[in-house]
Amino acid sequence: MCSVDPDELTEMTRATGLMDISGGDVLCRKCGTGTAEVVLRVRDAYCRECFLAYFVHKFRSTIGKSKQIRHGDKVLVATSGGPSSVAMVHLIRQGLNETSHKQLRFVPAFLYVDESCLSENPSSGHEYIKKVCEEVTALKFDCYVTSIEQIMSAQVKPPVLFTKEWNEEHLLKSQSLEESAKDLLISCKSLSAKEDLAEQLRRDLILQAAEALGYEKVFLGDNATSLSVAILGNVAIGRGSQLPGRVHFKSVHRGIEMYRPMREILQNEIQHYVKIHSLLTVQAPSFQTKGQSITSCTEDFVMGLQKDFPATIPTIFRTGDKLMSSSSEQSRRTTPEPVVGVSSCNEICVLCGSDLDTEQGEASAVHAILVSQDLSKRKVEGGSKDGNETTNIVVSNSPTMNGCCGSNGSAELPENSCACNDRGGSCGSGGRDSKREHVLSQDQLECYLCYGCRIIARELRDIQQLPQKVLGLAAEQERRKVMREQIQDFLL
Ligand SMILES: [Zn+2]
Ligand SMILES: [Zn+2]
Repeated sequence: MCSVDPDELTEMTRATGLMDISGGDVLCRKCGTGTAEVVLRVRDAYCRECFLAYFVHKFRSTIGKSKQIRHGDKVLVATSGGPSSVAMVHLIRQGLNETSHKQLRFVPAFLYVDESCLSENPSSGHEYIKKVCEEVTALKFDCYVTSIEQIMSAQVKPPVLFTKEWNEEHLLKSQSLEESAKDLLISCKSLSAKEDLAEQLRRDLILQAAEALGYEKVFLGDNATSLSVAILGNVAIGRGSQLPGRVHFKSVHRGIEMYRPMREILQNEIQHYVKIHSLLTVQAPSFQTKGQSITSCTEDFVMGLQKDFPATIPTIFRTGDKLMSSSSEQSRRTTPEPVVGVSSCNEICVLCGSDLDTEQGEASAVHAILVSQDLSKRKVEGGSKDGNETTNIVVSNSPTMNGCCGSNGSAELPENSCACNDRGGSCGSGGRDSKREHVLSQDQLECYLCYGCRIIARELRDIQQLPQKVLGLAAEQERRKVMREQIQDFLL
């Protein structure tokens, strides 16, 4: 089963009707003796034992062949209660219980993110926390719980351990954070941007939770079907350059390693596995859009094609596997730090944490947009006296931000007394308790966003609603940029 040649081109042949095994007279194509219980790829029938061996092998070989997960590694496994997550929990339990050389040897803990505040039924959140976490703890695993609105907080609270005595008060909810998270998504004009933003926030929260709990490795439940949709969908929403970080087995974001051990397994295979083991799956309340978005259209397209041409998903998946980013983590590490006078657009995106992909040549979409914006701006400037057409955003100071103007940050200083505000809010000289606020224009913020996140930013009615951490990071980078420009003439 490991002998699949990744370079082999799969012929796209139309399926000619699903094999009927209901009569119990079809034999397994692998062992030739067992009665077929599962049909894969339209015509391939397998008995229960052969299917399970094939399924478990796919999961373990994905982890094993990478040689990335070592004995005793602490791994935080994100779980949603969906089929892929539930199957992964079960596979990990089985793998740890093995006594042979096939035994998995890492130390897992699980994380459930409650997204009920963004759903149509917020009050059902606690019920689903119990359902999902009880399934995990029944297998003698630790399960932590956090909630999506935490991403709006400047100081993210660490996830809470789920226990038998769990009740609603354990997960300290904040009405104001819930409102901010909802308002942020409501202020996003298009459905595609809404979905993309929710996805970025969810992923960032998992990373922050892993960091808070001291985990450097995270498992995600992405399967081959969801990844194939993501490959085409991400290209369509402007995240093509980030594909390796979204679909490969391993990717590194903000210093945390993310792994996708279910990536070789198709959704229908997971459904068969869940059914055979009678596992309980739930559709936890989460952010759902109504209507057609780029992602939902892509999903319909891929799934429709897959129905008639079973090689569709494997073909997309294998193609995505071969894609490498020119702005990969490695190339960034080997690129020397720019000295002075260089745009700050050489860091990572403050919203999604991906490498900035906006330093492209003239024949690129981002350049075309910049030219178009520049031309529009000139027109507006010619037509108005002040020419200030950009949306200003107010950035609250983070207590740890360093100043750039040399002022002592005294709380007695009057608001906006620092001259740095005139340069776009580059000063961070506020004291720990200072309520001074600084302003970044939308153009300044976009300098610290990747192409995909710039699309989100333009779809937002009010950029001020972005998470405080995102605005704080952008303000900090802006200050560094101004500082570099100020000391440029004094450097050798
Ligand atoms: Zn068999
Ligand atoms: Zn981004």
